Order: sequence, then structure tokens, then C-alpha cells
Amino acid sequence: MLPLGWRVHEKVANIVRDEINEIGGQEFLLPTLHPAAIWQKSGRWDAMGEIMFRLKDRKNTDQALGITHEEIFATVAAELTSHKQLPQVWYHIQIKFRDEARPKSGLLRVREFHMKDSYSFDIDAAGLDAAFAAHDEAYRKIFQRLGIPAFGVEASSGAMGGNASVEFMTPSDAGEDDVVRCPKCNYAANIEKATSGVAAEEDGAPTDLERFATPGVRTIAALEDFEGGAEASRQLKTLVMVLDGTVTLVMVRGDHQLNTQKLADATGAIEIRPASADEAFAALGAHPGSLGAVGVSEHPVIADLALQGRVNMTTGANEDDWHVRGVNVQRDVAVGQWADLREVQAGEPCPVCDTAINIVRCIEIGHIFKLGTKYSETFGVNVATTGGETVPVQMGSYGIGIGRNMAAAVETNHDDKGIVWPVSIAPYEAVITLMRLDDEHLEAGNQIYSGLRAAGVDALIDDRDARAGVKFADAELIGFPYRITLGPRGLANGEAEVTNRATGDTKMVPLAELVATLAPEIAESRDAGRHG
Ligand SMILES: [Zn+2]
Repeated sequence: MLPLGWRVHEKVANIVRDEINEIGGQEFLLPTLHPAAIWQKSGRWDAMGEIMFRLKDRKNTDQALGITHEEIFATVAAELTSHKQLPQVWYHIQIKFRDEARPKSGLLRVREFHMKDSYSFDIDAAGLDAAFAAHDEAYRKIFQRLGIPAFGVEASSGAMGGNASVEFMTPSDAGEDDVVRCPKCNYAANIEKATSGVAAEEDGAPTDLERFATPGVRTIAALEDFEGGAEASRQLKTLVMVLDGTVTLVMVRGDHQLNTQKLADATGAIEIRPASADEAFAALGAHPGSLGAVGVSEHPVIADLALQGRVNMTTGANEDDWHVRGVNVQRDVAVGQWADLREVQAGEPCPVCDTAINIVRCIEIGHIFKLGTKYSETFGVNVATTGGETVPVQMGSYGIGIGRNMAAAVETNHDDKGIVWPVSIAPYEAVITLMRLDDEHLEAGNQIYSGLRAAGVDALIDDRDARAGVKFADAELIGFPYRITLGPRGLANGEAEVTNRATGDTKMVPLAELVATLAPEIAESRDAGRHG
């Protein structure tokens, strides 16, 4: 972060801090260098896989760079002993390290970033519900103050565990998340979790299995076009996947797509990848395009819920250039697990109200989890109840990436000239642009500068020896919310020109009134949406 960016970063952090303090949060600073033993205790030393940076100290002991802090805060919370010490909301704004497969997009996905993560500790589920609701509301205020339009969606809890989570999203083409939204009701869910209605198919009466030759047919589409083939919705798509080293057949309808996160959530697998053609051949004796699960018993089979009860389906026969028709899924395939694996498509019916759903590209700007007792049981975070019984505390975990929210604010607030910072997080709220550097300009400029600063405005004076056009362009590019221009014509009338970056409105204001009119306007925007 260079100086202007760091000022924005700290303003974002301070807004987050202000709202978390408001719900009773207490700020900590816990380490980012963690002994492996703590992560081994929760099982996440292995579960985190390649995303975790690991190193060894001089004693050859394994260490990790913190990816998140559930384990560390739970270790501290093990000091709690009584219900009288609850509830607690603890947080810090600390650096996280993640060895991302594809770091990209400026500040959106980076390997080292500041995050506010808070953790709640409550005596019971009702307490956790209240802490979760308080964070939900605080997060909405934070995004409002950052100038980021946000909405909450149902999300996968992924590697965090726990039983409920809400992600906050802002629509942006720069994002990496697809969110399913119903235009009519409030249904919104990450595509990793979203469901939709699937129209029932008329399969007719069950028939017998029948192998048939399909020379050269290797795709769903080719089998649709093949004489005696089947339309995609009547085909079984068999994906050979490797789940934590185990070859597994994953079955979805021919015209459906697998969502890998759903597969991870359904199976608890950590490393998921498609099998190579060689691995698939070794497992099933045929090449991709001719594979199927009929009669397979040596490998686990997981099938999508949309295939339950389907008959007269067509699939690969595990022999190149052969397929089999008349498949009765329940009769002919040894399905070991049924799960929702299908990725929802735009236009399908909303699971709540049947309206055609939309899929919107979004940036994830916050994520809150109900963890329950998963970590408190592991780390011994137990307290005595009023009745004297000892119980594990109910935990919640709540994260906001600071740099990512800076980036999301820019994605939302910009035009073709540059950034349009909301006043609340602008590096400076007003820039005084001197068109000339003579005594008259410098004196008037410094007077306004001192006056604005005395009135609490974050002001900057552009007294660089540069052309006015360069100064104007820089002010627009950087995105200062207000530009106060001092030029010879205005000064002759005792006036300055005030330009609003967001609206482009320009007006001449008498120098004597400038601070008194502008400072309150800026203060109002700065605090818009603030609690209390
Ligand atoms: Zn709906």
C-alpha cells in the first residue's frame, strides 16, 4: 500500500472497528505465526491442504502462517470458566496468508491481506443466534458506510464447518462468485449452495437393459444426434473423480453440470480432481465418452438427487463405442450416496416461488458463520452454567477482508475518469487545487487548507509545480470527493470553484463562506449510516 491507498485501507478498517465495537466487540491482536500443534488439534492442519503456508522454525518444528483464527481464539477462550463471563465478542484486524492457486484482480484475491475476524462466545444456541444477528446488522451498516450495495446469501460453510453461514455479496463483473437471485421473492444463494426446481420427466414404463453400438459417439451431444440415442435429459453423465485419492463415480443428468463445492460439502472430501483418462480407463476399462456406472461395484457411486426414480436412461457401457439404454437408476446402479450436486442454471424455477431465477456475478465482501461447539469441544472452551453443569460454549466466526472491500468500493464507485471515492473512505475528502503558485494563490489556498483541517476535514493542497490540467486529471483519477479550485479569475472576485466528483456539479463559493458551508456537508456524508 502506498500512502493514498493506506489511508483508504485504514479508513475502511476504522469503520469496521467502529461498528464491531458498537455491538460489544473487544479488539485483540493475536499472532499470525502459529504452531502446527494447534491446527493438528482441530484436524485442519491436513484439511487446509495447499492453501496454508507452512514453515519450520530453527528447532525443526512445523509452523503455519494464519489463514484464519478459529483455533487461536478458541485457545484463548479456553480461559473462560463461567457463564457469568458470557457473552463475548472478540476480534482483531490481522494479516492472513493464503497460498491461493490463482491470485489475481488487484486486491480481490491476494496471498496476504488484512482481515477483521471476530468470534462470538455464548452459553447457548439462542445466544449464538443473537450474536449472529448482531453481526449481520453490523455488516449491513459497514457496507452502507463503505458505499457498497450489499445483500446476504445462503452459502456453503466449506472448510469452516458449522451449521449456518451467510455471505455478503455485491454485484460486479470483477467478482468470482455466481449468486442465484430470485427477482420476485428474497431467495438468494451462492451457486455452491443454490437449489432450483427441476421439472419432472416422463420416463414411461421400465424396460430391460440393452447394450447398443455407438461407433465414434463420445459426447452427450453426439449421443443426442445419434440414431437410437437419447436426448440429454435422458442420459446419465458419469464423471470419474478422485476424492482424497479414491476413484469415485459421480453421476448427474446429461444436461446438468456438477458443482464441485457441492460434491465437497456432500462428501467432506478435501482434495477433489477429475481422474485422468488413464485413471478412468484403469478403473472402468473404457475411455471418457463411453463410461457409465451400471453394474459398477468396485468404486463408490454418488448420484445427484435429480436422478432419483429415473428409468429408461442411457449411459456409457464401459466399452469404447458402446452404450446401454433402459437403465433404471435404482435397479441398475449401486448408488452409495444421493446428494444435491447439480449446478443451478439461470431461468430455472426459484425453489421458493417458482419464478425464473437470475444468476449474478458478485464479489464476496463478508462471510459470517455459526460454528456451534465444533471448536469449543476440541479446545476445551467449557463454562459452568447457572446449574453448575459444564458445557461447551457456542461459537460464531465473522470475517471481512479490508483490502477486498477497498477494491469492491472502487468497482462500485468509478467512472471513465477514475475512482469516485465515497467521502467516508476517500484518502482525502477535499483537494485544494492551485492553478498558479504565486503569493496570492498560496495564501488563499493555505487559509482554506487550515480552515478545513480545523473544521475536521481531511484536506490536501495540490501545490505541485505542474499545469492545472495535470492537477485536474490527477484529482479525478485519484477520486477526491471535492475539488476546490483557486484560479486568477475566481480570486479576483474573492471566490473559489467547488466541484463535486460524484455529480460533477460545480459552483462558485465566496472564500469567506467556503469552510462554513463545505465542512458540514462533508461531515454529513462522512458519517452517513453511522450507528447512533
Ligand atoms: Zn422466488
